[in-house]
Amino acid sequence: MKPVVFVGAGPGAADLITLRGAQRLAQADVVLHDALTDPALRAMAPQATWVDVGKRGFCDSTGQTRINALLVRHALEGRAVVRLKGGDPSVFGRLEEELQALADAGLQAEVVPGVTAALAAAATLQRPLTRRGTGRSVALTTAMTRSGDLRAARSADTEVFYMAGRQLGALARRLQDAGWPADTPANVVSRAGWPDQIATDHRVHSLGQAALLHAGRPTVVTVGVGAQAVANLRELKVSDRAKADARTART
Ligand code: SAH
Repeated sequence: MKPVVFVGAGPGAADLITLRGAQRLAQADVVLHDALTDPALRAMAPQATWVDVGKRGFCDSTGQTRINALLVRHALEGRAVVRLKGGDPSVFGRLEEELQALADAGLQAEVVPGVTAALAAAATLQRPLTRRGTGRSVALTTAMTRSGDLRAARSADTEVFYMAGRQLGALARRLQDAGWPADTPANVVSRAGWPDQIATDHRVHSLGQAALLHAGRPTVVTVGVGAQAVANLRELKVSDRAKADARTART
């Protein structure tokens, strides 16, 4: 039986996948992929059957059980299976459940890392997540609890929040409750790594301004030392359209 290969596709444009990931795709018989991955990746495995398991219906826990079952079935039938995930498989990617399902079935796995959204956002902004002397730690944090509640934290010099895009106003309040000063630098990047990525600069207290501009797009929020602009690099601004939208929304 061939090991099932988990491949991190990176956050967007197909050329952000690793060479190893592309090689595994080229050898695949079946690719089970998430919604967030770039369709251009298909050109790397034209020989394979592509199955979208990121669609509605696969998202809840029943969906996860079905994905696990598909992985196991295809592998037991002797196919070369690639499980393609957005970003990095080890970051908020339900990798634990899928590895467990394979282990329970006595199957082997391999994990090929990818560029996680936090790193793509830092690259887009040219804002290093660690800074000599001041930024000694980085936390990757989900803003959503399992029950769907919003939660913030202050556990590192730089904290990157995933899955917070829908509730930026509420996140601003929770961040201040968690001890971040209101004027702490914060930035918001949606569709990082894609040609239509958007990045905006804020302070913790004004994060809500970003809500409309980034609405409906995968978004990460970086807070703290790593959100600060490097001296003399161009400052990002909340666009005038976003400000106008925010005014309209309030009236
Ligand atoms: N494994 C993925 C994360 C999956 S969880 C990774 O390593 O990046 C899904 C969350 O990731 C989204 O809610 C969003 O917060 C973030 N995300 C994924 N792709 C993104 C992108 N291109 N730009 C910004 N955030 C992204």
